[in-house]
Amino acid sequence: MALIVQKFGGTSVGSIERIQNVARWVLDYAAQGHELVVVSSAMAGETNRLVGLATQIDPSPYSREYDMMIASGEQVAIGLLSLAINVEAKNRGLIKAEETKARPLLGFQMGILTDNIYSKARIREINTQRVRQELGRGIIPVVAGFQGVDSHNNITTLGRGGSDTSAVAIAAALKADECEIYTDVDGVYTTDPRLCSEAKKISKISYEEMMELASLGAKVLQIRSVELAAKYRIPLHVRSSFDPVEGTRVVSKEDLGPSMEDVVVAGVAAATEQVKITLKNVPNEIGIGAKIFTPLSDAAISVDVIVQDVSQTGTLSISFTIQNTDAHKAIRVLEGIQKQSLPEMKITQQGKLSKVSIVGVGMAHHPGVASRMFNILSEAGIGIELVTTSEIKVSCLIDEAKTSRAVEALHHGFGLSEID
Ligand code: ADP
Ligand code: MG
Repeated sequence: MALIVQKFGGTSVGSIERIQNVARWVLDYAAQGHELVVVSSAMAGETNRLVGLATQIDPSPYSREYDMMIASGEQVAIGLLSLAINVEAKNRGLIKAEETKARPLLGFQMGILTDNIYSKARIREINTQRVRQELGRGIIPVVAGFQGVDSHNNITTLGRGGSDTSAVAIAAALKADECEIYTDVDGVYTTDPRLCSEAKKISKISYEEMMELASLGAKVLQIRSVELAAKYRIPLHVRSSFDPVEGTRVVSKEDLGPSMEDVVVAGVAAATEQVKITLKNVPNEIGIGAKIFTPLSDAAISVDVIVQDVSQTGTLSISFTIQNTDAHKAIRVLEGIQKQSLPEMKITQQGKLSKVSIVGVGMAHHPGVASRMFNILSEAGIGIELVTTSEIKVSCLIDEAKTSRAVEALHHGFGLSEID
């Protein structure tokens, strides 16, 4: 008997039929003798609808009020899914008419404690007492993903894709044997299968590569969930709730097998909606980086791809990229710094950019990967705004309109369309 956390994404619970389908699936699994904790996202489209309502009032609404509201989609989903499991369990004669098999738990009932960074909260700890009690009674806990509470009981949310992180964190807290992520594709592909028809399913991928892919835009798993899985060595299985075939196993590098190390580029990822911010006339003095980037990080804005240059007049020019959703806040923070201590600084922004990246652990031992990437992009007529590299990835900032062309070209150019 294993303890398994099963997470169902929005599409998997996107309609009543699909919710009933998940209920049957969960009970089939439980019938094999496994202990299950189910984690659910909001029904497909619901969170976007809620975001749309809030942004009509405030373009940058991320706050206690906002989290209170966007966390509501999961409450509906876990209520419906629990109802469906109970009805199905009665139909199967597993429980009596007055009994229940599933128990819906919101974040606070599940003991998910977070910090108080609204809309991007991080889980600090999980109190598993209640969920263990339910499991001990043979109940299937059905937990609301994406949400927790801070130390003052304010509802917080974990960022888009946060239900993946809820599921892995619960798996880690319970020392589960596995965490299954059910989604609308049957595994992790060499690139987004919706952007590139030649994408191939990867049978096994290392935590490290998956972390890079996720942080670079492969939204199939939220990055934080992969970090947690790697840290606590929780095996992940990304698979489809529509098709019971074997999906993708996310495992440690040692468990990859020798042939996978020869793969120089394992995947291509793209993140759209990037904004480049450029600061000019910045005094070239020690500590200037901290003066600018500390307030940004204090405001929970993740900054990426930083490039710094000295101009002919001796001042600095600093460019960096951020998510479109953070642009409003970032400009406010930068204007604050400008007012307080850098009146000469000029702030400009350029939107409609995207970041395309190639990822692979084999890259560290194969020189010339970056230059090959530049060649492939230039042959496809795509200009590069900024570049950043690490041991296992190269990222280029390009015009957003050319995203899918770039992904196709790189996927093809690095031979990913050919592997089985
Ligand atoms: P869920 O609602 O189940 O969490 P998401 O929409 O968050 O699902 O993630 C699944 C989607 O991730 C897929 O539909 C696919 O378009 C996208 N995706 C991006 N990159 C990849 C990749 N490398 N492999 C698989 N899917 C990817
Ligand atoms: Mg997701």
